Amino acid sequence: MQAFKSNIIEANEVTILLHGGVGRIHKEAISPETEQQYQEAIIHALTEGQKIISCSGKSIDAVEAVIRILEDCPLFNAGKGAVYANNEMIELDAAIMDGKTLNAGAVAGVRTVKNPISAARKIIDNSPHVMLVGSGADEFAKGNGIEIVDQSYFKVKDRWQQIIKLKEETENNTDLFSKQPPTKLGTVGCVAIDEAGGLAAGTSTGGMLNKKFGRVGDTPIIGAGTYANKICAVSCTGHGEYFIRHAVAHDICAMIEYKSIRVSVAVKEMIEEKLTNAGGVGGLIAMDANGNIAVNYNTEGMFYGYIKKDGTITVNICNMIIE
Ligand code: ASP
Repeated sequence: MQAFKSNIIEANEVTILLHGGVGRIHKEAISPETEQQYQEAIIHALTEGQKIISCSGKSIDAVEAVIRILEDCPLFNAGKGAVYANNEMIELDAAIMDGKTLNAGAVAGVRTVKNPISAARKIIDNSPHVMLVGSGADEFAKGNGIEIVDQSYFKVKDRWQQIIKLKEETENNTDLFSKQPPTKLGTVGCVAIDEAGGLAAGTSTGGMLNKKFGRVGDTPIIGAGTYANKICAVSCTGHGEYFIRHAVAHDICAMIEYKSIRVSVAVKEMIEEKLTNAGGVGGLIAMDANGNIAVNYNTEGMFYGYIKKDGTITVNICNMIIE
């Protein structure tokens, strides 16, 4: 995918900010009904998250609740509706982090967990670890009361057709992923702040279409696709390998701390300079400890939505490709 000029968006007094991935724009390919469905899912997630915050709940609880709703929505590349790996399996990655305590939980390559974000959360609550992968993560989730489903649960027709078509077109070329940048994304992420000023971040994804079996992207890697501390909370989306190499999520927080710059300045520098110059494609959402937010991406579009303290909601859904 070609990288485009970045698009910085700023706002303040925000309590919850979410994204639904970056991608190519084919606005005309989105029916009004589909657009409506995206909008409803985003508004529903923000509203449910806000209920938690406004009852003095913790930001990490709001982040988990928001992401669960998006994982359950087949429109996004997370939970139900995730993209297929080259071996025609769905392997899910997710991470969640509490900025106040630096507690973090992550799962990678899970195949049976209905809501990977909740498995990640359970790692914080019920284990001494930060990340579990593969069957160990599936087993941990099961043993800790997380809902387990068959692979068939995740399957949606469009996603299945994507992988079949792609493999036919490329004569089953298993090398394709390294040569082909992402075109069909839809990862979900969320950052939030609670009444006590605590920040949290979370991200959940099926990864990249046609990824190699066993490939782990940036999403579950603390500091790459997901990070939160007392200063800032970040969730990323895009070509994960670049976000890992540049430790993007942590670097945003470090820039703000070490250079005493605003969140929007750090986000702009990251997307417009570091990531774009490296050839990386994607975007991110970030929130500082005062509820100032920045959204930026160097793709044609990014889905995002946010809710302010006063309950007003802003949603951007026009920029997602559906093929
Ligand atoms: N960053 C994710 C990954 O590389 C994909 C995405 O955000 O769409 O796995």
